Parts: sequence; structure tokens; C-alpha cells
Amino acid sequence: MGWDEIKKARRRLSREQGTIIKDWGGRVPIALVYPNAYYLGMSNLGIHAVYSLLNSYNHVVCERAFWEADNKASQSPPISLESQRPLADFAAVLFSISYELDYFNVVQILKASGIPLYAADRDERHPLVIAGGPCIMANPMPLSPFFDCLCIGEAEPLVPAMLPVITEGIGGKRGELLKSLASLPGVYVPQYYSGKAVVRQWAKNLDDFPVASAVLTPDTELGDLYLIEVERGCSWGCRFCLVSKAFSPMRYRSIDSLITQAEEGLKYRKRLGLVGPAVSDHPQIEELLSKLRQMGAELSISSLRVSPLSRIVLRELAKGAARTISLAPEAGSQRLRQVIKKGISEDDILESMDKAAEGGIRLLKLYFMIGLPTETDEDIEEIINLTLRYKNILDKRRTGCRIAVTISPFVPKAGTPFQWLPMAQPAVLNRRLSRLKNSLMPKGIKVKAESPAWSQVQGVLARGDIELAGVLADIEELSLSGWRKATAKHNIDVDFYANQRWDVGQKLPWEMIELGTKSGNLELELDRALT
Ligand code: SF4
Repeated sequence: MGWDEIKKARRRLSREQGTIIKDWGGRVPIALVYPNAYYLGMSNLGIHAVYSLLNSYNHVVCERAFWEADNKASQSPPISLESQRPLADFAAVLFSISYELDYFNVVQILKASGIPLYAADRDERHPLVIAGGPCIMANPMPLSPFFDCLCIGEAEPLVPAMLPVITEGIGGKRGELLKSLASLPGVYVPQYYSGKAVVRQWAKNLDDFPVASAVLTPDTELGDLYLIEVERGCSWGCRFCLVSKAFSPMRYRSIDSLITQAEEGLKYRKRLGLVGPAVSDHPQIEELLSKLRQMGAELSISSLRVSPLSRIVLRELAKGAARTISLAPEAGSQRLRQVIKKGISEDDILESMDKAAEGGIRLLKLYFMIGLPTETDEDIEEIINLTLRYKNILDKRRTGCRIAVTISPFVPKAGTPFQWLPMAQPAVLNRRLSRLKNSLMPKGIKVKAESPAWSQVQGVLARGDIELAGVLADIEELSLSGWRKATAKHNIDVDFYANQRWDVGQKLPWEMIELGTKSGNLELELDRALT
């Protein structure tokens, strides 16, 4: 642990508001690790939620740790921000994992921390290493040998069940502690797996657990916002999307609870960021926005559903100084939007863009996917046509509203109706991406895209099994060539995991996870998509 690291942590702390510093004496110390940079992690509301929840217990001290580019370069051990202690000093180390490509960082963090990488090599001298987050809920298998236990579900019901067991058992025999954890609902302990389904746990009443920015800092992506979670889950059920499966049922926070959080937030920031998969779906969204605006709040919304999108919502947003909105048509053609069950028409999209421009929005961010099941080159042309048609309308009206497009390759996710379907080959994705860039960028439309090659890696990990753990453990250099070398060494058939269609009847690596959707329903949805 270097003096530079300590100085950097202290500098960060000095710019934060809301940091919780507790004395370790007599408390159970838990490190909460976001396996990526502070700049990204501090805009992740899940980190704030777990940090607040764990620190709400007097007998627990929870401190945060991140994995920065300089840690990666030097493989220097990460330290906690609050007390600048190494992770190995904690009783438990809890990783919150929301992106498959962060799996590489998880392995690097454990190695750099001097904590044995494999759970089987750890005992009571080492911290208990735990994982949670959306990727883990869907498919814990590629990381399963590295963790003592994996949390299938939301922190609010899991933490109160797990904490007494951890507090009681942390000093004793590791095997006994793991056996006790394995008996809890929603906790997957690979070493003591009983063979029964691990059932996802979720919070029944969100108002019992307010989730908002716990620590404020200017040194993060959304540093000018006080973030408030408005809802959890999504009732639209797009067939590629994990959110509606891993966070069901749809739950909304009450206006009263949101207003209370907003009052707190406005003490720190004049801008509130309302977070949720489709914030405009909140049944009282118009009333909420109007009240927040009357309180003097400037507003920003993480995502709006294209339909329904009311003029009132957009007007309130614009009055609340929102200048950017994000809409996700996902596909350019009506045919393909039906395949993915997006549930919106071209008229809906054009009308929403119209309303946004009229409402004073200056930047319209459009999100599309490429490589979706059944996609052809014509579907790509439809993305171009749709975007350019609307760009022309905006230009003629001189509203000053610009369009930016973000393109992501389709990655099949465990637990969704498209889990059995292949990704498009990188060559196809690259060709389609070039076509989009070459058609849109010369017209002044900014195009941001995820790399098809890395998306394929993501696809392998998203549908991966325990064999992938060996690859993650052995990767020497975090690059595509390092990945290829490690997959070749372990005889991993990348094409099988990412680019082949799987039989509906075949055994899935994540079969022990019960998200709450019967697999028969997923099959039915798949049939509906493809017929
Ligand atoms: S509307 Fe968005 S969050 Fe909801 S299911 Fe569709 S893609 Fe997922």
C-alpha cells in the first residue's frame, strides 16, 4: 500500500459530503467494492443503497473501495477510502457487479489484495468474499469459484438475513459459516450447494428503504445530481432485457417518500436525478415533477419510455431545466421492434421526439441495438432513415435540438426470452456499425458505439459456465489478445457461448437460479418473437 494511494483516498474524502466514518472497535468491518473506477461507481445508485444499508447497523462499519486505472497498471492493492485499509483487513469483502466486463477487474482485485482467488483456498484467516448485483442474479457461474457466497436478489431483504449469520460466524470455522449462509433464501454458496433452486429475493415495499445519493462528490459522472430511485422493475418485458426479469415485480415509490428524499437532496444539490428503468411510467409522474419543480428543483431523468410520453412530463422537465432526454427505440423497423416486444410504433417515436423538441429539450439521445435476432441490413437502413428523417424535421424547425445516437450490440442475457439466441458475428456487427456511422456522422449526428469485439467477450461471460473461471483467472493481460490467448489455453469455444443458438431443451449453466419467471414463459415469449 503506497503513500500516494493514501493521499489520493484522503483527497477524495475531502471533496465528499455524507461520508460515513466509523470507529472499527467492536464492529464487523465490511468492504463494499465496485470493481471499476470511483468516477463510475459513485454514480451507481446500487453502491449508495448498500453503503447506507450496511452502515445503518451500528455493529457494522462499511467502507468503499474502487479499482482505478493506476491500480490496473501497477496491480497495486486497492485500499478502502474511509480508513485506507487493505481489503484483506476486512471481515467481509462484498463486490457489487453490474457489468460482465468488470469480471476481469474482480479477479485482478482479489489477486492484488493478496486474498486467495479461489474460495476453496480461503479459510477463517481470510475475509468472507461475497458477490451481488444484476449479473450475479442472472448467471453467477463464471465467477462462482471465486466467491464464498453469491447473493441472488436485492440487498434490502438479503442483508438483514445474512448479517446476523456473518456477525455470529465470522470468527469461527469457515465451513460452519458457509453452511449457515447456504441455508438462507437467495444465498448461493457453491461449496455447499444443496441442488435446490436458489430463489431471487426482492424488497416488498420500496418505501421502507429509501434509495438516494448517500455520498456526494463532484468527482463522478453525475456529480451535479442528487440521485433518487423512483421505481424498481419494468412492466414492459422487452424480450432482450434483464431488468424486467431480475427486478420484477414492478414497484413504485410513493410521492410522499420521493418528496421527502428530494427535500433532503436539495440541501446538497439544486439538480435532482430521477432514476429508474422507465421513469415516465410512474403513475403520478406529472404530479411528482410538478411538485419537485415547485420546490425549486432542476430535474434530470435517467430514462423515458417512448410511449406513453406526455407533453406535461416534457414541459415539466423543460421547466425544471432538463436539457437532455434519452429515448430507446432500440430498433429502426417496426418488424424488429415487434420481435423484441418493444411495444412502440414509428409514430410513437416521431411524436415523442416532436414533443421533446417543442418542450425545449436541446439534446435527444437515441439508443439503438444492432445484431438483434432476425435483423437484416434493411433494419439498419431503417435506423438511418428514422434518425435522418427526424433530424431534417428538427433542422427545418430550427428548435436547436440536436440528436446523438448510441449503438450497442445485442448480447443474449441469462434469464431472458432471448437467452437461447446467438449474437451476430463481430464481422457482421462491424459492417453494420460502419454503415450507421458513415451515414449518420457526416450529417452532424454524433454516434457512440460499443465495440463489437468486446461485446462478444461480454456475450461469452453472460452465457458462460464455470469453465470461464479458469480463463478469468489465467488472463495475463487485459486486452483482446490476452483474452484470446486465455480462451485458447482453456479450449473455450467462444463461438458456442456467444454466437450459437442453443436448444431450448438443453441444460443451462444458470439453471439453479429461480428469477421468478417460469422457463415455460420464456420459451413462449421466444416462440412469439420468432413466429
Ligand atoms: S422498457 Fe426498457 S427497462 Fe423496460 S423491459 Fe424494455 S428495455 Fe427493459
